[in-house]
Amino acid sequence: MDLDLSTEHALLRSTVRDFMEREVAPVVGAHERERRFPSEVVARLGEMGWLGIPIPLDEGGAGLDTLAYAIAIEEIGRVWGSLGLIVAAHTSLGCGPLHLAGSAAQKARFLVPMASGRVLGAYGLTEPGAGSDAGGTRTTARHEDGPDGGSWVIDGGKRFITNAGQAGTYIVTARTGSKDDGSAEISAFIVPADTPGFRVGRLEDKLGLHASATGELFFDDCRVPVFNMLGGRGEGFRTFLRILDGGRISIGALAVGLAQAALDAAVPYARTREQFGRPIGSFQGVAFMIADMATEIEAARSLVWKAAWLKDQGRDYALVAAQAKLFASEVSSRATNAAIQVHGGYGYVTDFPVERFMRDAKLTEIGEGTSEIQRLVIARRILGLKIV
Ligand SMILES: Cc1cc2nc3c(=O)[nH]c(=O)nc-3n(C[C@H](O)[C@H](O)[C@H](O)COP(=O)(O)OP(=O)(O)OC[C@H]3O[C@@H](n4cnc5c(N)ncnc54)[C@H](O)[C@@H]3O)c2cc1C
Repeated sequence: MDLDLSTEHALLRSTVRDFMEREVAPVVGAHERERRFPSEVVARLGEMGWLGIPIPLDEGGAGLDTLAYAIAIEEIGRVWGSLGLIVAAHTSLGCGPLHLAGSAAQKARFLVPMASGRVLGAYGLTEPGAGSDAGGTRTTARHEDGPDGGSWVIDGGKRFITNAGQAGTYIVTARTGSKDDGSAEISAFIVPADTPGFRVGRLEDKLGLHASATGELFFDDCRVPVFNMLGGRGEGFRTFLRILDGGRISIGALAVGLAQAALDAAVPYARTREQFGRPIGSFQGVAFMIADMATEIEAARSLVWKAAWLKDQGRDYALVAAQAKLFASEVSSRATNAAIQVHGGYGYVTDFPVERFMRDAKLTEIGEGTSEIQRLVIARRILGLKIV
């Protein structure tokens, strides 16, 4: 057993960290305040090959493994949660389904431009009435005959879609019929942003992650060629569940990054801020908060890395990925909250970044399956019972 990072992973970690601290950190504040999507920074990440880290080289990606991807997301999230979410949504949710279920021709046309960083991707599963119950999709797609196999006409809408309005390619689910047991037959489709009948609606005004775009998608007689069905008819939901398993690793990594940022801010503050004639870190009440943060972050990172490692070994990683996402996101909320406490009143105002870390961390308990859904996934696997 070797718990050290390989030389390559350690190098990637220090390269991403260095880039984020030197070139990206200085622009975070302005983008967050102005709620401005960081197009220039995203383009730079693309040039460096960081928008397709776990995607194979022949599909336009960097050809690295899931652990490398988790390390990069943690380092990006440590400096800028919004950017971490943008990259995670693009990579796990935009590129992921194409890598998993795309034909060679679909990969060449859609995945290569995305994984090589030229086109941003997004993933539309959630709908106003279908959140945790993603199978409740109301968006429909009906087949119409025509030349070359005809087309699919999509009608409906999605909500809370990361990279809405910024993505060039959207992967979305729609109901294409009913199965024999009456449940929805759900298929996945590739929808280029310029498809007639597709439009982006309102962008959300969020608690945190202000520089990331989260918005509505609308489909109104939105016609795509049969070529754009991703995977077989009725396979969309299964593909998306598999994608969410992997996506949980990246949200776990983002959560660890935000928690680490909180600790990195709290430690020097606790060492230098003095009250009652001594550093506040010398009071057990404060010191123990730091001890708990450091311990929980270490445990959360270990779980995230274990899930990534299992995936890279081709082993079943679904349970550990859910555990990693659940634990890391709750650690992230606790640690970022503790960092505000360590800063006292200064933590509650925007002069210090810790209030942003807390606002951003909360999303990790909600996106890609809430904590309650992770507990359901974990408990079902362990108990072997249908838990509702
Ligand atoms: C910033 C942001 C970005 C997002 N990005 C994307 C994206 O890119 N693509 C996408 O498709 N979606 C995205 N989402 C949507 C996200 O995945 C959903 O918000 C999430 O899955 C929860 O769905 P919901 O909001 O409808 O809440 P609901 O499902 O209505 O849940 C409300 C509450 O009920 C609980 N609950 C629901 N069902 C159960 C149950 N069976 N047992 C116990 N508790 C339950 C939940 O845990 C939660 O506490 C994003 C959301 C946000 C906020």
